[in-house]
Amino acid sequence: MPATETVAAVDIGGTKTAAALVTRDGEVVARLEAPTPGGDGATAILQTAADLVLRLRAGSAAPTVHALGVGSAGVLDAATGFVLGATDVLRGWAGTDLRGSLASATGLPTAVVNDVHAHAIGEARRGVARGARTVLFVGVGTGVGGAFVIDGAALAGAHSAAGHLGHQPSPYAGKLACSCGGAGHLEAIAAGPTLQAEYERRFGTTVSDLRAIAAMASDGQRLAIDTLAFGGAAVGSAIGGLVNVLDPHVVVVGGGVSNVGEVWWDALRAAVRREALPSLASVPVQATALGPDAALVGAAEIAWETVE
Ligand SMILES: [Zn+2]
Repeated sequence: MPATETVAAVDIGGTKTAAALVTRDGEVVARLEAPTPGGDGATAILQTAADLVLRLRAGSAAPTVHALGVGSAGVLDAATGFVLGATDVLRGWAGTDLRGSLASATGLPTAVVNDVHAHAIGEARRGVARGARTVLFVGVGTGVGGAFVIDGAALAGAHSAAGHLGHQPSPYAGKLACSCGGAGHLEAIAAGPTLQAEYERRFGTTVSDLRAIAAMASDGQRLAIDTLAFGGAAVGSAIGGLVNVLDPHVVVVGGGVSNVGEVWWDALRAAVRREALPSLASVPVQATALGPDAALVGAAEIAWETVE
């Protein structure tokens, strides 16, 4: 039997680094992960990623690995392969030669892409939006990010920073301080930690996390339901505005917050319909289909482009 033809993919996030071998059809055939040593600096982060790839290649199935695709947190310059900017979660990450370092550590032709863009590309090419020419992807988790995918490629923008849709003004955020240093942005109200903070402000108490609020909402607690609906409406309002600007074929929504339940989704979809122009209000709004492997599948797609 001939060896499986694959590329390696790596997804470097703030808490964990995942790696996989992925076929030309987007099938994950092997997978490993490790904690990201984010506080230990760029060399340790790169070493963790390279070790995972080398361990996968040494695996018993011994498939042919043609290239490496890397999705990483931070602003990445796809042309030079350097990290242009990153938060303190990945200490010393800005300025790192991500592509050059991992290409030399693994011996593989390497391509890099922002992790949210990788997630969007995975869903656009191999997931729920497969076949759609234009896709607006929205990820709501610890932060709020996204991408606009056109014919399978994520719009990068003039500074490789396109897709920061958590940092647009939101009427739902009032004057709340944002992680970027600004105020009144969508991320200041609709991300997991900030929506939890909204509940705590309303209720005057603390909860362990957003899942606790979701559990209370499913038990019928009014304030929990209202808070989740408020967060969903904030995201949906922003999506509706973007739909008016971009007229995407499909909207895909993912990230950890998208798992809090139907209250959030119902409010999100209602707000999209409310904000979108009448002719655009029927735009499909879908949940992600590839789950935690989406960014790996997207990074693999970028890797295959270096082979062709
Ligand atoms: Zn902001």
